[in-house]
Parts: sequence; structure tokens; C-alpha cells
Amino acid sequence: TQPSITEESKQKVVIIGAASVGKTCIIQKFTKGVFNNGEESTIGAAFVVNRVETSRGPVILNLWDTAGQERYKSLVPRYFKGAVAYIIVFDVSERASFDDAKDWLEIVRNESGANPIIFFVGNKIDIQPDFDLKEASDFAQEQGLTYWTTSAATGENIKQLFEDIGERVSVLQTAPQSGGINLVGEHEQKKSCC
Ligand code: GDP
Ligand code: MG
Repeated sequence: TQPSITEESKQKVVIIGAASVGKTCIIQKFTKGVFNNGEESTIGAAFVVNRVETSRGPVILNLWDTAGQERYKSLVPRYFKGAVAYIIVFDVSERASFDDAKDWLEIVRNESGANPIIFFVGNKIDIQPDFDLKEASDFAQEQGLTYWTTSAATGENIKQLFEDIGERVSVLQTAPQSGGINLVGEHEQKKSCC
């Protein structure tokens, strides 16, 4: 039997990918329901918190965005600490951003902890793709990544993407721990002591 979630804990998710692929717009569409069609947008804060309902109970996602640092790949891994999942985004209308996404996968694999949950997302499907997206879905499958195509502009698959993330992350919250220790409680205690 699986223990139920008794306390909500925040799960850190980092969104990465080349500049201008729509990372900030994806997060804004999901958290605020709006699409900012203006100049390049930045969240301003390092992260936004959003709750998603899952079959195992609520999950609080701590969504970390980059605000220009993605132009310097070496700067981004400093945001990885404590992340349980990564969203690697490319722009379906910019083939180069797909190649970039492969680089980001390498970086995640080299710089993150063991076995992160990785989502591979082709954004801007409201416009004409620049290449055959089967290449991207095949790559994701080969690499064991969950593949989604989205549009922050129309909202297509945005909610579904984050519900999927919630479901995958919720497994971590309910996984039986050795000795039945309440890790959430322990974590909270540590935070207040140091
Ligand atoms: P970031 O640098 O990855 O955070 O990219 P932004 O979220 O700032 O978006 C970059 C540009 O792409 C902006 O002009 C957005 O309006 C545009 N954009 C983002 N998502 C979409 C989308 O799904 N479709 C279209 N057509 N444009 C998008
Ligand atoms: Mg941005």
C-alpha cells in the first residue's frame, strides 16, 4: 500500500533551452493563463510556485526560469541544485534550437543528481515547423525523455504538460521510504535550524 500525501512539499523543476524558444511564455501561460506576445519576457523572480492536482494528491511545483542566463550555458547549472525534474525546450520553427536542446540534455545529465525526470518540449507548434519533428520525437524516445509539443501562444498542451510533470513528480512524494521516515517533516526541520 502506498502512503498518502499528508503534507505538501515543493518540488523544484527547472526550465531550460536556448534563448527565445518560449520558456518564460510557457510558464506564464500555465501560471497566469496569459500569453505575452511582446518583447522577450522575463519572470523577474527566480521562480514561481504553482499547485497541480495529481492522482496521488496535490503537488507544489517550484518552477525555475532563467532570465537571460541561458545565453551562457555554463551559468545555468548553478540553478540545478535540488531539482527533481527538467523541462528542456526547443522552438519547432528553429532547427538550431533543437540542436541546442541536445546540448542542454548533456548538461543536465552531467550536472544534475542521479536520474532526473526530463521532459523534452517542442514549443511554438502554432507556427510552421522548420524540420521534421519526427526527428525530435525519435530522439526523445531513444533518450528516454517524455516528449511534448506545445504552444504558449494558443495554450495547446500547456496544461497537459504540467499535469504530466505533476504526475511524474508525485511518485517521488509517495514512494515508500525505508523505515517509514517522514522525509518532508525532517526537511522542514533542517530548514529552520540552519
Ligand atoms: P525565452 O527566452 O525562452 O524565455 O522565450 P520567451 O518566452 O521570452 O519568448 C520568446 C519569443 O517567442 C516571444 O516573442 C514570444 O512571444 C514568442 N513565443 C513564445 N512562445 C510562443 C509560441 O508558442 N508560439 C509563438 N508563435 N510564439 C511564441
Ligand atoms: Mg525567458
